[in-house]
Amino acid sequence: MRKNIAAGNWKMNLAFEEAKSLSEHVSNVQVADGTEVILGVPFPYLEQIQKVIASNPGVHVAAQNCHQEAKGAYTGEVSLGMLASIGIKTVILGHSERRAYQKETDELLAQKVKAALQAGFKVIFCCGESLETREAGEHFDFVEGQLRNSLFDLEAKDWKQIVIAYEPIWAIGTGVTASPEQAQEIHAHIRTLLKNTFNEQVAEETSILYGGSVKPANAKELFSKSDIDGGLVGGASLKAADFEQIIKSF
Ligand code: PEP
Repeated sequence: MRKNIAAGNWKMNLAFEEAKSLSEHVSNVQVADGTEVILGVPFPYLEQIQKVIASNPGVHVAAQNCHQEAKGAYTGEVSLGMLASIGIKTVILGHSERRAYQKETDELLAQKVKAALQAGFKVIFCCGESLETREAGEHFDFVEGQLRNSLFDLEAKDWKQIVIAYEPIWAIGTGVTASPEQAQEIHAHIRTLLKNTFNEQVAEETSILYGGSVKPANAKELFSKSDIDGGLVGGASLKAADFEQIIKSF
């Protein structure tokens, strides 16, 4: 069966000492069977934070991005090989902030996903619509397009390495959360797409996370929905007690 996942996305936050103390706290949280906790850590801290959480087999770290090429003249970039060489096995791709600020396109993300899968990484792939798109009633088609352009020419076997995070842009960092019903209906739509495009097994075994102002007060209700398998959490993942409560919300 698919896993429940509580993933934190630290983004460009926390000084190292703060990151260390937060991850020490998380490493002491008892993670239920069938649940996985993932911390999306800034590049410079990955190796050390990985050591901090090593005592808890339920907790893992992820990079927040990677480059699609194996090596070369790409100043400031980080390759999958570099990440693998320090033991990192998970990468977040397609976050709406990277799509907006770094102009990452569906096509570029398709290349990054392929490179990551080939390098044996697990990918948390983010998708989600803007407020304008939702208000126009085009969110189902928009999200479907993002998935189709970046993921749908993969093979069924590749999906063992993919987690989808549905993150409506209008709910990220705004304090506005999609209602559990709004999130459930689009998660169910994504799962149906996986079934129709790949097969029943891919649909049933792929974890689909919700992201957008997840907090202790709403996590339980969101995670209780049949097609919501956890959360990708920004702001609340920076607060030890809040993230602990979210981890315990399954
Ligand atoms: C995110 O960073 O992916 C996110 C969902 O942020 P927040 O929880 O702060 O809305």
